[in-house]
Amino acid sequence: MDELKDLDRVANSVRHAKRVLVITGAGISADSGLPTYRGIGGLYNDNDTEEGMPIEVALSGDVMRQRPDITWKHLAQIEANCRHARPNRAHEVIAQLQEIAPTTVLTQNIDGFHRAAGSQDLIEMHGTLFEIHCPACGYAEEVMDYSDITRFPPLCPDCGNGLRPSVVLFGEQLPGAAIRRLEEVLDEGYDVVFSIGTTSVFPYIAQPFAVAGRIGALAIEVNPSTTGVSRFADVLWRCGAAVAMEQLWERLASLR
Ligand SMILES: [Zn+2]
Repeated sequence: MDELKDLDRVANSVRHAKRVLVITGAGISADSGLPTYRGIGGLYNDNDTEEGMPIEVALSGDVMRQRPDITWKHLAQIEANCRHARPNRAHEVIAQLQEIAPTTVLTQNIDGFHRAAGSQDLIEMHGTLFEIHCPACGYAEEVMDYSDITRFPPLCPDCGNGLRPSVVLFGEQLPGAAIRRLEEVLDEGYDVVFSIGTTSVFPYIAQPFAVAGRIGALAIEVNPSTTGVSRFADVLWRCGAAVAMEQLWERLASLR
């Protein structure tokens, strides 16, 4: 494909950045073959589930408390979709940026790909499918996948209550540790901010990009379509995430 515009400008800004902030949404995982979820429920379009409730209800904190078997069943379907998918070149390049500048990743995704690719300073704002925990006693464990889970919900080995995935369900609050880390990054500032594959419908996803001009950060949007934050971008790369980030990496490599 043609060279991306302003590639040198972006690459030089990254090389000299005191901090890079990378914001990602479902679009980055489209190159890994995952459906682009709307929230965590987009897999289901607008149809009700077979239990006769909208997916936003099935995947809510209330139903997880009252009928965890229903919520678990649908989360397990999402996990099954992720199971044979892998991080793509965009996830890898974002992890490699750590070699060049301190890099924070803020993601809405629950697919675990940034973690798998090696990003260290990672804010998983909606949690991850690959940790399960006990709301009653705090027991937690990481899981590779759900293939060994034979009962929904699986029971806590410590106290016998039902376990649940550490994802943010509809109607639930965002994780406190993630909010605190994001506030630190916003306080300390950043020189370059990417918005990759997200429609930025959530204010905590849109705002760090929207304020870039005010804090003097270079704002790059990577998305095939126009989004709610496109007007805040200094540079628009209208293509897929893997293609864009590979070109950026090659340019960074040539400059070193
Ligand atoms: Zn427990």
